[in-house]
Amino acid sequence: MNKDNVVFKLIEQEQERQESGIELIASENFVSKQVMEAAGSVLTNKYAEGLPGKRYYGGCEIVDEVETIAIERAKKLFGAEWANVQPHAGAQANSAVFLALLKPGDKILGFDLSHGGHLTHGSAVNSSGKLYSPHFYGVSKETGLIDYKKLEEVALTEKPKLIICGASAYSREWDYKFIREVADKVGALVLADISHPAGLIAKGLLDNPLPHCHVVTTTTHKTLRGPRGGMIMLGKDFENPFGLKTPKGETRMMSSLLDMAVFPGTQGGPLEHIIAAKAVAFGEALSDEYGEYALQVKKNAAAMAKALTERDYQIISGGTDNHLMLIDLRNKNITGKVAEAALQQAHITVNKNMVPFDDKSPFITSGIRVGTAAITTRGLKEEHMVKIVEFIDSVITDANNSSKLESIRNEVKSMMSDFPLYK
Ligand code: PLP
Repeated sequence: MNKDNVVFKLIEQEQERQESGIELIASENFVSKQVMEAAGSVLTNKYAEGLPGKRYYGGCEIVDEVETIAIERAKKLFGAEWANVQPHAGAQANSAVFLALLKPGDKILGFDLSHGGHLTHGSAVNSSGKLYSPHFYGVSKETGLIDYKKLEEVALTEKPKLIICGASAYSREWDYKFIREVADKVGALVLADISHPAGLIAKGLLDNPLPHCHVVTTTTHKTLRGPRGGMIMLGKDFENPFGLKTPKGETRMMSSLLDMAVFPGTQGGPLEHIIAAKAVAFGEALSDEYGEYALQVKKNAAAMAKALTERDYQIISGGTDNHLMLIDLRNKNITGKVAEAALQQAHITVNKNMVPFDDKSPFITSGIRVGTAAITTRGLKEEHMVKIVEFIDSVITDANNSSKLESIRNEVKSMMSDFPLYK
């Protein structure tokens, strides 16, 4: 077979793009070579429906070992009693949890998408908002912090079956204990989706929801720095409190309901090559070296927030406890859309993002979201954050000046050439 030069040329170009720019998309990271090697391995050839030791296909003895290692490392990393590492992505992990714990039409209570929540937590355009009856809490207009009082009020009025916490664009710590107390008052289960801060939680740099929340989901590719994928965990495997039944009418433990909701509920064969890459990434994340990385991610985010604030950028909630921040650009008279495009020209990648109480549409937006997980993997430190903010500010204050954007792009390229990625 001839090598597909068309596709491989594009892959080369994408590598060049990643290496030469400043990657500030909060949900992205750069995996290690060994994680990539596992993801591109012969394990992609293997069908393995079922779970380790209980497969519907022959020849699974080796992938059984791989998947068991991934599960054991995930449990150790987060202090979980049980884990399923098969969800193809974060969205699939969440839909499997919903399938396991809810009946169509059941009420759910999630963090409003326009305040920083995720599509899969009840948005009208996602199956979570179509199959279930969504209600929302948000942040306070004054502080930008989660309005826990409102959360409790809505929970007491609506009595949801599931309360979801976790976000895509919220820079502060969560009060999982309080949310669980509210849930217990109304007989709800709690799902914490830690997709974004998972790596920081694993290293004890943020609170762990597992002691408080019934179920925890995460992606594996953001701060956790693994391959694209998802997983589900339980801090304690308990009998399902609603007496939910399997399609065959049996009452099962939560772990069993969740396993069945992943396969055959929402997925077919697991991606064993990605599960191998997850195992490798979890192994890396268990190391002290990764602990230093996670701490630097947090320090870099704090340094970036400080430098932005000093230049009069409005960060929602006034700062960050994790790896990301949401910047309201309204005082800078530029939309998120225009800022994103101008920064792109300077090889600084961010995403436009709605800010709480935004008056602009999701396609325009009043803000941008930035994060430090990827640039920290490149080796950047606090002093570089100050420089990056200088670049961002120069772009935003002169977004239509293409020669200036080009000269910033050259500076960006030169700075990043000191931090090689895969070469
Ligand atoms: N949950 C949260 C909080 C997220 O931020 C994301 C992705 O950005 C997801 C779920 C979905 O993950 P995926 O894109 O892997 O489906």
